Amino acid sequence: MESPTLIAGAGLAGLACAHQLKSDYLLIEKADTVGGVARSFERNGFLFDCTGHWLHLRDPYIKEWVKELLPEGMLEISRRSEIYSHQVRTLYPFQANTYGLPEAVVKECVDGYFAAREKYGDGKNTEAKTFEDFILQRMGEGIAKHFMVPYNSKLWTVHPKEMLAKWCDRFVPTPEPDDVLRGSKPPDGNIKALGYNTTLLYPKAGGIGTLSQRMATSLNEKPRLQTTLTKIDWQTTKASLNNQDEVGYQSLVSTLPLPVLVGLLNDPPEDVQQAAARLRCASVTYWDVGVAGENNPEDAHWTYFPEAHLPFYRVGSASAAFAYSAPEAHRSYYVETSHPRGTPCPHDEEAILNGLRQVGYLSANEEPLFMQRSTIDYAYVIMDKHYGQARATIHDWLGTQNIYSVGRYGDWRYDSMEGAMLQGIDCARKILETP
Ligand SMILES: Cc1cc2nc3c(=O)[nH]c(=O)nc-3n(C[C@H](O)[C@H](O)[C@H](O)COP(=O)(O)OP(=O)(O)OC[C@H]3O[C@@H](n4cnc5c(N)ncnc54)[C@H](O)[C@@H]3O)c2cc1C
Repeated sequence: MESPTLIAGAGLAGLACAHQLKSDYLLIEKADTVGGVARSFERNGFLFDCTGHWLHLRDPYIKEWVKELLPEGMLEISRRSEIYSHQVRTLYPFQANTYGLPEAVVKECVDGYFAAREKYGDGKNTEAKTFEDFILQRMGEGIAKHFMVPYNSKLWTVHPKEMLAKWCDRFVPTPEPDDVLRGSKPPDGNIKALGYNTTLLYPKAGGIGTLSQRMATSLNEKPRLQTTLTKIDWQTTKASLNNQDEVGYQSLVSTLPLPVLVGLLNDPPEDVQQAAARLRCASVTYWDVGVAGENNPEDAHWTYFPEAHLPFYRVGSASAAFAYSAPEAHRSYYVETSHPRGTPCPHDEEAILNGLRQVGYLSANEEPLFMQRSTIDYAYVIMDKHYGQARATIHDWLGTQNIYSVGRYGDWRYDSMEGAMLQGIDCARKILETP
C-alpha cells in the first residue's frame, strides 16, 4: 500500500494535520478512539477527561476553527484555582496571594520578593539560565521556598535547578510589586487574575473529547483506529502497521513521543539513538474519584499541593466547574501524582484516600463510590541541560528523511492543546509547500 503522507497518532496534532492536508493522507491511531490525551471517558455516570483539560485559545485561526467545530458554543468559565499549604487555602497564583498563610511565611515571601527586585529589577533583562534562577530572580527566596521549588519539584520530579528557564515566560506568572503587596493583605475586593489561563473554555457536552471527536468526523478521510505504527524503514520509506501491513510514504508525520519514534526506526544513526536516550519525562498517575454529595458552591476547579507530605501535586474537580460531569447530587475529583517515567508510582489508593481526607475533600469516614487509577506514561517533558541539544540532533536528522515529529510529545516540549493543533497545521502546510 502507498500513501503520500502517513500520519501516526490521532491526537489533536495528528487530527489537525489531517484536517489541513484535506486528502492524500492515511491517519492511523493505535487506540480504539481518537483524541490521545484529549479524550473523555464515562465511568458510572460520571464524565472524566485525562485529568483536567481546559481550552485557552489565543490563535485567531484556531479560534475560528473551534467555533466551526462546536457551533453550539462553549462554556466560558472564570478560573477558580487555589494553593493548599500550611493547612490554609490561598488563591492562585501563590506569588500574588500569600494573605492567610502564617505571618512569618507571608513576611519571608514579601521580603524575599523585594530583595530580588532590588537585585534584579523586574528580571526581564537578566539572564535566567535555569528554572530556579527564573524563580529566584523574579520572585525571591521566600516564594521559592514556600511554593515554587517544592511544587515544581513534585510536578516535574526534578529540582528546578535541573531545568532550563526558556519555557517559563509564558506559563509562569511573574507578579508586579503591587500584586505581591496587595496579595499579602486582607482582600480589598479588587482581585487581579494573573496568568495565561484566567478564562477557560470547555465543550457544552461530552467533555474535552467532544473537540477531538468533532475534528475526526469533519475529516475527508477518516482515521484508521486500532492501527499501530510498529516499525519504520527510513531507507526504503516504508512503515509497518500492526507488525503486518506495509505502507510506503513520501512524508511521515509522527505524533508519538520522540524517543518512541526513534525506537521504531530501523537502525538509526548512532548520535540519534544516543540523543533519544537523553530525553527525560515525568509520568502522571492519577485517580478519577466519584463521590455521593454535591460540591460546595465555592469549591476550586483545581488546587495545587506543594507540600511533600501529601502524595498529590494537584487535585481538580470537574463537577465544581460544570455540573454535567457528575450525576445530580454527586461530585468528582481527579487526583494527580507524578513520578519519573520508567519508575512505578510510589503512592497507593490508601495514601490518596488519606490525603483527600486530610485536606477536606472527603470527611473522616466518607468513602468514595469508586476510584479509578490511570497512568499517562509520557506526561511532562523535562527540559534539562541535555534537552536542547538532544532534541535538535533528532529533529535535524528526521528533517533530512521527510519525517516530521510534531505535537506535545512528538516535538518534545511543554505545550497546550492549542499548541498541538497549531503544530499539526504548520506541519501540513510545510508538506503541501514541498515540491
Ligand atoms: C496531565 C495533563 C493535563 C493537561 N491539561 C491541559 C489543559 O488543561 N489545557 C491544554 O490546553 N492542554 C493540556 N494538556 C496538554 C494537551 O493534552 C496536549 O498538548 C495535547 O493533547 C497533545 O496532543 P498530541 O496530539 O500532540 O499528543 P497525544 O494526545 O499524545 O496524541 C498522540 C496519539 O498517538 C497515538 N499513538 C501512540 N503510539 C502510536 C503508534 N505506535 N501508532 C499509532 N498511534 C500511536 C496515541 O494513542 C495518541 O492518540 C495537558 C496534558 C497533560 C499530560
